[in-house]
Amino acid sequence: MPKTYDAIVIGSGAGGGIYAKTLTEAGAEVLLVDAGGHQIDRDIRHHQWSWELPYRNSYQQDQEFTVALPTMIHTVGQEDRERLTLFDGSAHNTYYNDHFWAKRRDWKYTFPQEKPYRWVRVRALGGKTNCWDAGASRWGALEFKPASYDGFGLDWPVTYEEMAPWYSKIEQLIGVSGPDTQSEHFPTGDWLPPIAPRCAEVRLAAALYKKFGLYAFPSPKAAITRDFRGRSKCHYCGRCSLGCDSGSKFTTVGVLLPPAMATGRLTLRINTIVREITSDADGRVQAISYIDRYTFKEGQARARIIVLCASAIETARILLNSRSGRFPQGLANSSGQVGHNLVENITSSASGYLPDFENRTVTNEDGWSTGMHIAPFVNIDEKTRSKKFLRRYVMSLNGGFGTSPGSSRGGAIFGADFKRAGLDWYGSNVSIGAQGEGLQNPGNCVDIDPEVKDAWGIPAARIHLQFGDNEKAMTKDISERAANMIEAAGGVVTGWQVSPSIPGGSIHEQGTCRMGDDPNKFVTNRWGQCHDVPNLFLGDGSINVTASTGDPTLTILAMSLRNAEHLAESVRKREL
Ligand SMILES: Cc1cc2nc3c(=O)[nH]c(=O)nc-3n(C[C@H](O)[C@H](O)[C@H](O)COP(=O)(O)OP(=O)(O)OC[C@H]3O[C@@H](n4cnc5c(N)ncnc54)[C@H](O)[C@@H]3O)c2cc1C
Ligand code: SF4
Repeated sequence: MPKTYDAIVIGSGAGGGIYAKTLTEAGAEVLLVDAGGHQIDRDIRHHQWSWELPYRNSYQQDQEFTVALPTMIHTVGQEDRERLTLFDGSAHNTYYNDHFWAKRRDWKYTFPQEKPYRWVRVRALGGKTNCWDAGASRWGALEFKPASYDGFGLDWPVTYEEMAPWYSKIEQLIGVSGPDTQSEHFPTGDWLPPIAPRCAEVRLAAALYKKFGLYAFPSPKAAITRDFRGRSKCHYCGRCSLGCDSGSKFTTVGVLLPPAMATGRLTLRINTIVREITSDADGRVQAISYIDRYTFKEGQARARIIVLCASAIETARILLNSRSGRFPQGLANSSGQVGHNLVENITSSASGYLPDFENRTVTNEDGWSTGMHIAPFVNIDEKTRSKKFLRRYVMSLNGGFGTSPGSSRGGAIFGADFKRAGLDWYGSNVSIGAQGEGLQNPGNCVDIDPEVKDAWGIPAARIHLQFGDNEKAMTKDISERAANMIEAAGGVVTGWQVSPSIPGGSIHEQGTCRMGDDPNKFVTNRWGQCHDVPNLFLGDGSINVTASTGDPTLTILAMSLRNAEHLAESVRKREL
């Protein structure tokens, strides 16, 4: 008789890592299944120079499976033009961390021709936490009750007050560094001391305070400025989203899985792709069927509880692929809402340079990969209500040397003149940008492609996402403000973004299985428990009601911790 686990957790990213740790520590025998392997220990090359990498790091796209996504940009002195982002599955188009990404050739997904989508996935133990930038903002009270402020869409079934202790608990566990933000719209957390800003950022911040009364502060980040819980503090190499070899940045593999393993109750099954979740005659889930990534061998594993944490789009795909007589439209989908309400953040920016920073002596101020933030200041009360768009954005400032002089500003593109110009500019480039909320739109959703299957014969997700007028108006506002801000700091603006970021660009997809009290309208209740299937839980951004202002991961972690502890308590009380 095959073993029946207390729980199976599908996906070992941010959400799955929390469930695995919490449930094993509560005494449960847990099987953690992930489609990826344990890649983190090999091939982290982020301290090598780019010319030491294959093709001197000139990324060779898998042409047949490359999609080109356009953004409209403006370069000062020229016409607006389209910039194409090429995507074959790698988020960074670099050989620094190529082994992490799920490539489109095998890990197929589709989109309607007129709506190209960049679906970034990591297939490795720890999921996208290996490659995330670790920006770790709390969302303020308005983000949980957005409809109460502007009448659009829905409020979350939880409040900031309810989430605040969970944010604190998660911050104390994973280590977040940040300052006093001085804003209730970007609440200060239980943070380690912040990193010092870079010189150019200090210049920008001082000008913004003087000219606009806006307070910029070092971005909170899930990386540690001092040794913390057995982990070494950051050495400021500035390469965070390529992977962090010292473990100073939070990852599931570095922080959540070791204590789960230490309980002796965690079984890990890697390179195991879940095809579907099966249920019994009473409508309770009982098993997963999977296929081995390399041997293609099929198998099954059984459990009393299943927690699905495969990331928002993949979670919807697995539910929609799990059809049965009892669940003909897909598992847990009597509301018809699985796959609907796909949302993500938009980003926009302007760039330029500070002329009096040219020809500076080069110093090592690489810091880490994020700069400074400004708390939301539009649509936060009656006085700041915008007539042009709904919802909020969080601005960020970036400057400093980095590991290379950065892009050219016209002129020579090779030879001695190019080298001279690069050295002159080194350290003077700056950018100001923002992440903002992309609104829910009835056409934005995930369904199953009736024809295309991935390399393992599993029907592919078909993604439909387009930004609307609200996102366009917000983009314009961000770009105009950002350009004004660079000029206010004595800078010269070289260009800005005209259209919102490409769909999928923020890698913050959420909301395909929203949570709420009404079983007719929502997939899960306020605890991530499926309304239709009491022993099935969702533990990723799929349950999020809105995309909010950016950086969803701290909220995914805090919400998963809250829901996992609630689940552990229900099991203890024998309510399940
Ligand atoms: C380059 C980059 C930068 C980012 N920067 C930030 C940032 O600064 N701040 C922020 O808040 N967020 C950031 N993010 C987003 C952040 O990484 C995600 O929000 C977060 O990891 C989501 O967690 P998750 O558990 O939902 O999914 P994931 O971390 O994607 O984990 C899902 C796991 O499920 C597994 N899986 C998927 N399908 C299956 C299947 N069928 N069977 C078995 N296993 C499966 C995957 O292999 C994966 O390990 C960034 C992401 C990237 C890639
Ligand atoms: S800057 Fe710090 S957190 Fe980022 S990769 Fe380097 S050591 Fe890790």
